[in-house]
Amino acid sequence: MFFIGIFGIQAKQEVVESRQGEICPVCGSLDRYEILKEYQYFHIFFLPVWRWGERYLVRTRCCQQVRILPHEFGKALVRGEAADWSQLSQGVLDPLVRCAHCSTLLEPEYRYCPRCGSERD
Ligand SMILES: [Zn+2]
Ligand SMILES: [Zn+2]
Repeated sequence: MFFIGIFGIQAKQEVVESRQGEICPVCGSLDRYEILKEYQYFHIFFLPVWRWGERYLVRTRCCQQVRILPHEFGKALVRGEAADWSQLSQGVLDPLVRCAHCSTLLEPEYRYCPRCGSERD
């Protein structure tokens, strides 16, 4: 998160769903994890004017991991459609990678940060 005077860019996360007593898709423990929706927005005087970079994430409590949820899966959840939770079996979710310089979320295939151009570690 950073500010340039009265306007800036922020990332916002909302919890879409909390899953209790489920098998963790990362470590396999029987615990809890949350589905998050994250997006970036540009604001002026605290007024969001532009929104982009929407994505869905899985945050686990047991092993404190954040993973990328397949986009279609997240969208279906938000629309209230029945989700096939068996898709989230252990080890299928990509780890979340952020730029070491500006914290922008990077797609697994990105070699360079789209915002600041830094090469990924
Ligand atoms: Zn876990
Ligand atoms: Zn960057």
